[in-house]
Amino acid sequence: MQNCAIVGINWGDEGKGRMVDLLTEDFDVVVRYQGGGNAGHTVINEKGEFALHLLPSGIFRDGVVNILGNGVALDPENLWTEIQEVTAKGVAITPDNLKISDRASLLLPWHRDLDGLEEARLADKQYGSTKQGIAPFYSDKYQKKTILAGELFYEEELRSHLADLMEWKNLTLTQVYGAPACTMEDLEAWLANFCDKIKPFVCDTGAYLRDAQKQGKRVLFEAQLGALRDLDYGIIPYTTSSNTIAAYAPIGAGLPSLKLTDVIGVVKAYSTCVGEGPFVCEMFGDEAEVLRAEGHEYGAKTGRPRRVGPIDLVATRYGVEVQSATAIALTKLDVLSYMDKIPVCTRYEVRGEQVDYFPFPMDLADAKPVIKYVDGWKSDVSSVRQWEDLPKAAQDYVLMIEKAIGCPITYVSVGPERESIILR
Ligand code: GDP
Repeated sequence: MQNCAIVGINWGDEGKGRMVDLLTEDFDVVVRYQGGGNAGHTVINEKGEFALHLLPSGIFRDGVVNILGNGVALDPENLWTEIQEVTAKGVAITPDNLKISDRASLLLPWHRDLDGLEEARLADKQYGSTKQGIAPFYSDKYQKKTILAGELFYEEELRSHLADLMEWKNLTLTQVYGAPACTMEDLEAWLANFCDKIKPFVCDTGAYLRDAQKQGKRVLFEAQLGALRDLDYGIIPYTTSSNTIAAYAPIGAGLPSLKLTDVIGVVKAYSTCVGEGPFVCEMFGDEAEVLRAEGHEYGAKTGRPRRVGPIDLVATRYGVEVQSATAIALTKLDVLSYMDKIPVCTRYEVRGEQVDYFPFPMDLADAKPVIKYVDGWKSDVSSVRQWEDLPKAAQDYVLMIEKAIGCPITYVSVGPERESIILR
């Protein structure tokens, strides 16, 4: 694998961080190419347990260079806080193993405020934002109304640019939402407390990556969230505001002409979804409570209980197509060990008709899951490391998914630890 993207096939939280942490062994560089600190990757390894939000998951491996590409929502406050938390647990983070693209745009202090204000205005129609400022950030990026990380090196121009942006944004804050205006003192404090701290990591990562390519270095692209949260292909408007799909990796990373050699799609053995929006296969009541507890399904960033359901073959097949996945990592198979019979969502019923395709967003709200049950294996599989040692019913479950989604499942994860993996 020379250039490989690790992406989510579903709604996010599939266990991408755990797969990146495992696979970084084979790569020299790990790049985050989109999104911000609005979701979390949980990584458990010999250094401890970490909830990463913006830092690439290769940060734990000695010799791996981690890059935050031009496509990310670079929140200096969140990033600096995260760097401090991770270094406090004994992980070294220096400009040698973390590099920030000078072309990454900065998430500005008012983006978080605007996110919260708009969700409050929407009241019971809210989009389920994590209120980290991601949607206002990307809107402003596309309006060219934010700051590039590289501008931190141009002190005078930076202040004048910030003052212009603040004057414009204060119109929205005060006149649309009736909120307090931002002041230059607020911005000076933000520059001193957070931007100055991350400045040493900012450089021309595009040049670094082109050079790394020439030297034959292997690059891993780490996505945030999943295909169904993609701004163009997901469950709009309950998506994120960036492109989570593998096709965006070269652009958001800083290597626009690159062709990915591999795309590993991460799929959970059942479904979870955080926040609002249609979730056709959702389970309720006791059945849902037990699965949520067994899978520890609470958001890494927000602590919100995740909505849960059986594996959704319709959505997963769509995610595999949208991601152009070349291989699948199926995670959390161990969690299903308690079930006698395992529910599987095989089709949707849309306006009285059973369908195999993933419907247009407007049709999702009324779509109903068609559920079938397959045999469970009722034994602990968390210590299994060889495919042959998996109970037959567990093998059948994996093979059934593989057939339905049309992509080889090459990794089966049976626990959160780095080594809890079966290679097929
Ligand atoms: P990500 O954002 O896609 O990286 O996913 P999250 O980190 O939000 O959620 C995945 C959660 O499942 C984390 O708590 C992982 O430690 C955990 N996890 C990943 N793979 C497995 C697995 O195979 N079995 C179990 N039991 N937990 C897993």
